[in-house]
Amino acid sequence: MELAIVFVKQYNIIKVKLMIANSYKDFISTFPDFPKKGIFFKDISPILKNPTIFESVINEMSNCSFLEEADSLIAIDARGFIFGSALAIKLKKPLILARKKNKLPGELIEKNYGLEYGEDSLSIQKSSLLDIKRPAIIDDILATGGTANCILDLLKKENKEVQCLLVFLELSQLKGRDNINLPVHSVLKLD
Ligand code: AMP
Repeated sequence: MELAIVFVKQYNIIKVKLMIANSYKDFISTFPDFPKKGIFFKDISPILKNPTIFESVINEMSNCSFLEEADSLIAIDARGFIFGSALAIKLKKPLILARKKNKLPGELIEKNYGLEYGEDSLSIQKSSLLDIKRPAIIDDILATGGTANCILDLLKKENKEVQCLLVFLELSQLKGRDNINLPVHSVLKLD
């Protein structure tokens, strides 16, 4: 009898978790032609506004098996910081910031890159990479893969063994993962 109750409880927990996971896409708004014509901007703000959904997303991201060997998380400016911070606290791994141009002081490694809607540059403080050997890259969305590749190139030049790219959302039809020579894990895929 007790076993049956435990089973029903577990079943209900799994059912609720599945319901939450299935509802992620309802918490993403699409804005056509933003920030420029032809781009379907995916706004993740509604996820962040709902603590239950946000917690579920972070739990799922933290279960990514590629993170097991990672000794640190490199989060990409700016929405990558949101997911990277929560994961760093949960997994107790050091967090390193890859920032847009002119945001970081000190000696930097820097690279230009192309993204779905323009060009930019990312930099990391050399000092922040001391003692880091096997980082994982964290971002909110994988689109064409240009941003993640920029960081991957920077880290490879510094002889780091990058473990994976972990994102919340992958825009599948842009085939970003085909351009990245890394294990890629996403919680949600959308066209
Ligand atoms: P990409 O380099 O093309 O993979 O683009 C990834 C980066 O650009 C991520 O940091 C995203 O935040 C942002 N991004 C690219 N495409 C979109 C999109 N359609 N909606 C929202 N953010 C995007």
